[in-house]
Amino acid sequence: MIILVINTGSSSIKYELFDMKDRKILARGLAERIGEESGILTYEIVPAGGKPTKKREKGLIADHQEGLKRIVDLLVDPEHGAVADKSEIAAVGHRVVHGGEAFKATTIIDGNVIAAIKKNIPLAPLHNPANLTGIEVAGSVFPDATQVAVFDTAFHQTIPGHAFLYAIPYEMYERYKVRRYGFHGTSHAYIAETAAEYLGRPTGELNLITIHLGNGASMAAIGNGNCIDTTMGMTPLAGLVMGTRSGDVDPSIPFFLADHLKMSFRDIDDLLNKKSGLKGICGANDMREVIERKEAGDKRAEIAIDIYTYRIKKFIGAYFAALGSLDALIFTAGIGENSPYIRELSCRGLDKLGIEIDPERNNKAGGGIREINSAEMEVKVMVIPTNEELKIAQETKKVIEKGRGIT
Ligand code: ADP
Repeated sequence: MIILVINTGSSSIKYELFDMKDRKILARGLAERIGEESGILTYEIVPAGGKPTKKREKGLIADHQEGLKRIVDLLVDPEHGAVADKSEIAAVGHRVVHGGEAFKATTIIDGNVIAAIKKNIPLAPLHNPANLTGIEVAGSVFPDATQVAVFDTAFHQTIPGHAFLYAIPYEMYERYKVRRYGFHGTSHAYIAETAAEYLGRPTGELNLITIHLGNGASMAAIGNGNCIDTTMGMTPLAGLVMGTRSGDVDPSIPFFLADHLKMSFRDIDDLLNKKSGLKGICGANDMREVIERKEAGDKRAEIAIDIYTYRIKKFIGAYFAALGSLDALIFTAGIGENSPYIRELSCRGLDKLGIEIDPERNNKAGGGIREINSAEMEVKVMVIPTNEELKIAQETKKVIEKGRGIT
């Protein structure tokens, strides 16, 4: 089964084409700056064992419809294409950011599903409209393919009330659905399943803490395979310190900023989402640069790293308490996969909880799944590269086969 995975943003379409027979990537790329003269379309075809062919086209991509059509032209190009005809693509798997409470799992898209995603627009005003555009455009470009929605929030729908409710008037939840939803669910679910496969144990038997550290960052506590808590909240602003997002702050800070600095609602939103986090503390939001600055003696960079890793450590302790016992702690995404330093600082001093990193294993170069805990410790500490696109393709295949009665 050949599946196209697309992640549609307000001015971009990221895509990956998979052959699910062997979970292999056939092609991938990005249409970006859609609607601008400076549009860019990139395409990489990945032949079996061969050298990838890369292409880059510059110039206006008028809208998402044109963007996807041009992607398809590249996919079926007789010389460099990945498939002979677009009819070979059986399904399109869409990343949808907010499924609200309506979606607890991946679902085949129909009119009702589109209406429910629309209903969740107030919860994700920047993302859900773009995701809907992707669904609409893919429906017209691939009229015969099954369209499937995979939600960032679905994995967290097992979180119990005591962890997803905020202590504010209950009507806010009942009437307006103000609650914790959590994000990065596709990544946390992929990591949990991959860990279970690696450890040779059923997911339902495992207690895990998964730590996704990319530009956005979040953690999940997974008890017997089900997510029981996560650091992001009603929006992706809550929880850990991120590249430019503050993570948890005292909820009264916005009132202080409005009262004393006369900042507008929009300015405060901008401050917390785009000017805070690592960037707000030390001026750089790329962790590689922050580490370099710290090594060069920059005190602000040092403080930024201390705040960043202390927050992670605090949540490890909290989630250990919530789970009662822990089988594995897993780092993933750009920083989690690539920075031994951040992993080490986040776990330092946790040996009483059975968590200790082995410096040699932690610092060893190379990618892939690996264990980095001291051999004698109870809790496995692991690095597992995330692959949200593959997970979306797997989910898409599963839901189609289920629909056909194949289990
Ligand atoms: P996104 O959330 O956009 O998918 P990524 O998962 O690619 O982000 O993570 C991006 C982050 O990973 C950046 O802060 C980048 O600096 C960081 N990163 C990548 N490689 C390294 C490295 N070797 N050491 C430290 N941080 C790294």
